[in-house]
Amino acid sequence: MYIDGEWVRSSSGQEFGAVNPATGEEFDRVPKGNDEDVKAAVDAAATAQKAWRDTPAAQRADYVLKAGLLIRETLDAVAKVDVINVGKPIKEARREVGNAATAAIYFSGLARRMYSNVVDSEQPKKFTMTVRRPVGIVGVITPWNDPASLGMWGIAPALVTGNTVVFKPASNSAVISAELVKVYEKVGLPKGVLNMVTGGGGEVGEALIRNRKVGLTVFTGESSTGRHIAEVNAPMFRKQVMELGGKNALIVADDAEISVAVHAALYASFSSAGQKCTAASRIIVEKGIVDKFSRAFAEGASKLVVGNGLREDVEVGPVVSRSQQKKSLEYIESGTLDGAVLLSGGGVYEDPERKRGYFVKPTVFGSVTNDMKIARDEIFGPVTSIIPAKSVDEAIEIANDTEYGLSSAIYTKDIGNMFKAINGIDAGMTFVNQGTVGPEVGAPFGGVKSSGFGRELGDEAIEHFTEKKTVFIDYSYSDRPWYFTPSS
Ligand code: NAD
Repeated sequence: MYIDGEWVRSSSGQEFGAVNPATGEEFDRVPKGNDEDVKAAVDAAATAQKAWRDTPAAQRADYVLKAGLLIRETLDAVAKVDVINVGKPIKEARREVGNAATAAIYFSGLARRMYSNVVDSEQPKKFTMTVRRPVGIVGVITPWNDPASLGMWGIAPALVTGNTVVFKPASNSAVISAELVKVYEKVGLPKGVLNMVTGGGGEVGEALIRNRKVGLTVFTGESSTGRHIAEVNAPMFRKQVMELGGKNALIVADDAEISVAVHAALYASFSSAGQKCTAASRIIVEKGIVDKFSRAFAEGASKLVVGNGLREDVEVGPVVSRSQQKKSLEYIESGTLDGAVLLSGGGVYEDPERKRGYFVKPTVFGSVTNDMKIARDEIFGPVTSIIPAKSVDEAIEIANDTEYGLSSAIYTKDIGNMFKAINGIDAGMTFVNQGTVGPEVGAPFGGVKSSGFGRELGDEAIEHFTEKKTVFIDYSYSDRPWYFTPSS
């Protein structure tokens, strides 16, 4: 754990093992933090806050820029840690870690774009303006699925805007998350500005959200956890950004180029072994092409190269843990029991190498109806449903029939269909002729409904990390009438 510029053990001395999901073997030990450690981290962040706030934004941004550039220089080494810690294929890990670097570089530019307003005053000899102030201490709580990029999405804008940070990564990804902190240490970030406490959500996470010194919670994780955190935040009126779960629909219209849609849908469904908040888990296909699409998609899924992500040719790695593997298998069973047609995959591998790890075959169900459990719950594994629809209008209705609203996509060449999807789908993002995954750092990212609220990325981020203060300056140095009105 990293507290006040020092790498430390938990005050209790307790640890837990970090396990490589591809082999099931422990490869590192991680401190198991507690209330006391969180308090120390928050206190360090509080002490560092004033000097950091008073550091010019351009200088603060320099640290963030250097961190981004350093990650790019050491991309391969950091990506390997990502593979070993969470099981991603190496090519995808390079992309994810590269995305973390790009986010840091992008947000370093925010220092020059933190605009405020000047408001023409209603009174003579008076100047009215807004200034931006950091919220203070930001608690960044992340999940394990995209640990490098999601950590950076919270940390980089928080630092540039003058906040200090207590970072609480998921236990399954604590080792790769520590790599982000090491990078900031290497570029000389002052002590106390960024702190990291590792350990369970119930202890470390809970202590962080209950600490009243924290001014903003940036939370990425399950909707149920987000709901709990929002309940804890509410009585404190604490600011929060909630990036939660998804059950994302990818619509394929009759006029789509099938081979292109199949290829993109495979990536959107099975990259990160389906463990992406933006994963396409419901592919809604217009009836004219549903049979052809289903055959090609199932065949594509069965040909994906599944194995240890350290191999360059691997396309799908293991899921992150034994419990995630069990969860996917339970959903596969539920799909079969509900009457969906198993078109591909549907279980684990029996060869000795993959049997050791937490692998699940990329699984495709056809003839799914939107009321089945596999179409309603976020599975967060390599299990995808194909749902037939009579028309694009019906496909949009099905897409919206979910508690979630994070990402969505449509494959079509018809501009009318495109705009039906853009205007009709209730989601934070709609991709046209791209799968549901692959955000860009310059554009806002986030969801509606149970997928959360607030936007990360893009310049909108600044609104969460700063408070606007309105300043009125009277330079008349004279008495004003008590009951001044603009017309008086
Ligand atoms: P999770 O909700 O179980 O855990 C997320 C983080 O919250 C972890 O660090 C965990 O330790 C912590 N936590 C758990 N209980 C807590 C508590 N009581 N108080 C404070 N912190 C607590 O989620 P996960 O299983 O790690 O990640 C998968 C989920 O994340 C999926 O639902 C996925 O859709 C979502 N996700 C969302 C986005 C997005 O941007 N919308 C991105 C990636 C993942």
